[in-house]
Amino acid sequence: MFIDTHAHLLFPDYRDCLEEVINRALINNVKYIINVSINLEDSIKSISLFEKYQNVFISVGIHPNELKETSHSELKKIKELAKHPGVIAIGEVGLDYYRKCTSKELQQKIFAEFINLSEETGLPLIIHTRYAWGDIEKNFINKMKNIKGVFHCFSGNLSNGLNLIENGFYLSYTGNITYRNFKKDEILRKIPIERVMIETDSPFLTPEPYRGQRNEPAYVVKVAEKLSSLFNLTPEDIGRITSYNAYKLFGIAGEILLPKITYKIRHSLYINVTNRCSSNCVFCERTKNPVVKGHNLKLKKEPTVEETIEDIRKNVGYNEIVFCGYGEPTIRLDYVKDVARWVKSNLPVKVRLNTNGQGNLINNRNIVPELKGLIDVVSISLNAETPDKYLKLTRSIFGKKAYSSVIKFIKECRKAGFETYTTIVNYDDVDVEKCRAIAEELDVNFRVRNFKEVG
Ligand code: SF4
Repeated sequence: MFIDTHAHLLFPDYRDCLEEVINRALINNVKYIINVSINLEDSIKSISLFEKYQNVFISVGIHPNELKETSHSELKKIKELAKHPGVIAIGEVGLDYYRKCTSKELQQKIFAEFINLSEETGLPLIIHTRYAWGDIEKNFINKMKNIKGVFHCFSGNLSNGLNLIENGFYLSYTGNITYRNFKKDEILRKIPIERVMIETDSPFLTPEPYRGQRNEPAYVVKVAEKLSSLFNLTPEDIGRITSYNAYKLFGIAGEILLPKITYKIRHSLYINVTNRCSSNCVFCERTKNPVVKGHNLKLKKEPTVEETIEDIRKNVGYNEIVFCGYGEPTIRLDYVKDVARWVKSNLPVKVRLNTNGQGNLINNRNIVPELKGLIDVVSISLNAETPDKYLKLTRSIFGKKAYSSVIKFIKECRKAGFETYTTIVNYDDVDVEKCRAIAEELDVNFRVRNFKEVG
């Protein structure tokens, strides 16, 4: 699923073809479009757009380049319109010092009023900022402490972006990131995708390869494709992650929260085995926000073998199956073995087990021989270079026994001939090099994961 979080469907460009444009978006899996208003007239008209199209949500506001001396009085009407159930944001509002259509003073005054309106209504802001980063950071961020919002068509530098994220805002990217002369790929890579949305800003900023033609919401997929190349994810991953972000900010597309038995990231199909775990790692979101790359992994009930197989059958386009989820798979060892057995007899794919390595303690026996022929790859969380640090980080129910058992489990997996990986989370005072040395000594592969990066 993709969401075009910023389009101007009431522009004359779509006068004779809006129906087709919206249908083309749906055909391309662009499930929702946010029509962003630029002035009072647009805001009024957008209500009928919402009433006509089930997949269109609307915002109300006045773009900084549309401001007039009379805009102040129009704010009252915008405030009334904001009560309509289709209105999910206040926008497009902000500061534009590039075009200089109106004075800076007027822009700042009206923007401050829209910030108040956002606070009053609880609706997030869709913010336009052009050549005004100094003022945003110096004079406005502190005024926006109690509101949420997105900086659309983000054009700032890395420091601006990180500062906005730090202050709870989202950034949104449009078709210009696909242009050959776009020079900010490195900035995009450093902004966590969990704080990003995608948009077309239609009818402007048409992405490649359609540059030069009129833009439309279906092309938001091209923005996702560009991001997928920067984040080593698929366009579908980007669509889902950014849709989840849109859900968090605007409250739309709630279906994204449906719990998953199987979930795809890149070309791997993960199985959400359980939410139970023998650890309670300090960096784990399992009990707070169990969402991975836009997939909600909070299980209402643990899936049966049959339900899992049925779910696997519905998927295509993957090259490995991974037992994972927000929990420890070996807590359900029989389930893992039964599903893996079915996979091995029916699908030509590798099977991986992601585990905290405490399976022998959990099952009170050496489980490694039981995995032979069912699992190809085992990825084990080493987490730390010493037993004390391990316990401090994982808070395992097995206490001091846990670390030595994990090391033994790694050795057993290596000995049994599994492709074996150890992983650590780059967190706090974990000594990456000492952990790497342990992995080398155990003769297994080693991976480091940034603690903010899951999946
Ligand atoms: S082992 Fe994994 S699932 Fe369990 S608490 Fe730690 S990070 Fe979370």
